[in-house]
Amino acid sequence: MAFALSARPAAGLAAAARPKRAAVRAAAINRDAPMYRAGGASDAPANATAPVSTPFDDYRFAPIREATVSRAMTSRYFKDLDSYAEADVIIAGAGSAGLACAYELSKLAPDARIAIIEQNVSPGGGAWLGGQLFSAMVIRKPGQAILDELAVPYEDEGDYVVVRHAALMTATLLSKVLQAPNVKLFNATAVEDLIVRDDAVSGRRIGGVVTNWTLVTLHHDTQSCMDPNVLEAKVVVSTCGHDGPMGAHSVKRLAKLGMVDEIPGMAALDMNAAEDRIVANTREVVPGMVLAGMELSEIDGSPRMGPTFGAMFVSGQKAAHVALGVLRRRQAQEAAARATTQAGAKQALSA
Ligand SMILES: Cc1cc2nc3c(=O)[nH]c(=O)nc-3n(C[C@H](O)[C@H](O)[C@H](O)COP(=O)(O)OP(=O)(O)OC[C@H]3O[C@@H](n4cnc5c(N)ncnc54)[C@H](O)[C@@H]3O)c2cc1C
Repeated sequence: MAFALSARPAAGLAAAARPKRAAVRAAAINRDAPMYRAGGASDAPANATAPVSTPFDDYRFAPIREATVSRAMTSRYFKDLDSYAEADVIIAGAGSAGLACAYELSKLAPDARIAIIEQNVSPGGGAWLGGQLFSAMVIRKPGQAILDELAVPYEDEGDYVVVRHAALMTATLLSKVLQAPNVKLFNATAVEDLIVRDDAVSGRRIGGVVTNWTLVTLHHDTQSCMDPNVLEAKVVVSTCGHDGPMGAHSVKRLAKLGMVDEIPGMAALDMNAAEDRIVANTREVVPGMVLAGMELSEIDGSPRMGPTFGAMFVSGQKAAHVALGVLRRRQAQEAAARATTQAGAKQALSA
């Protein structure tokens, strides 16, 4: 079988401006040629030192200016920052729970603007591996429903399923989240604090997050005057994972602010109890903040979950439904407040 491999010119270049060499097409690959056949080397020419020829030998990229590369990135990033300065939902933490939440919410509410803030350069949290440093990901039934939906293959072992490599599930989920038009991932960015508002309807509620480049967050003790950025949101979903250098960030902050009681911390491991409790307890913990994933175990004193991931995905999906309810409630409150203000203004004008 033969197929062609083409060097595509950059989409942004006007067709007329494209130089001819950008249109170079690599030669069609002839899969029947001796070099592609098992044992084909014996059919090769006698000259053993001749370089192997490939369809990529005359490959040339379309030209680009360095400034164009810079503007292509920064213009989009700052447009996103501008747009998400007032997000509908902010998800803090892009681990298994956060990504599942973003995926579910992007489907449930295509009108909602969803920002994910992830302190690490690489999103995915602890879901790139199974337990310890092993590869396989174990999911107890019926948690495999999300694998079916995403067409992630697994081995069915009866009460549980096994994905050959945890990274296969995480990469697939991540690719769906990143393709959703209403989701923006800001990685290498840490949630440093929360915006807390006092309002007449909800009382003390979470109104957004305070962020900084993670590298800055990590160096506040060695530098001075590095103020953070702020993103407002109608709902914040926190999925920062269990306690650690960065984990359980929101829960710890809520406790310091006196918005929740003292946090008991994660209890000893019990997979059977842990997974059901995480899903059952996924909820709005204070007005404007929904908690999901292992961060919940810190506030509820639930057992460690260990390397079984169904509860993380299902908790994230449940959090999406809770967050949507909170979002719609907030939108209705804002609409009512706007109507009252407009009515007041009309009355003042007519007086
Ligand atoms: C080394 C290791 C240890 C583990 N230990 C346990 C354990 O003790 N108990 C247990 O039940 N399971 C443990 N697991 C299993 C499993 O990985 C986790 O339970 C599971 O990943 C939790 O999913 P999550 O989505 O809640 O949080 P995580 O997968 O931890 O994801 C949280 C995400 O939030 C990000 N984040 C955290 N703070 C911030 C912040 N302030 N701003 C922005 N982003 C932030 C993190 O970078 C991360 O990507 C461990 C896994 C690994 C690899």
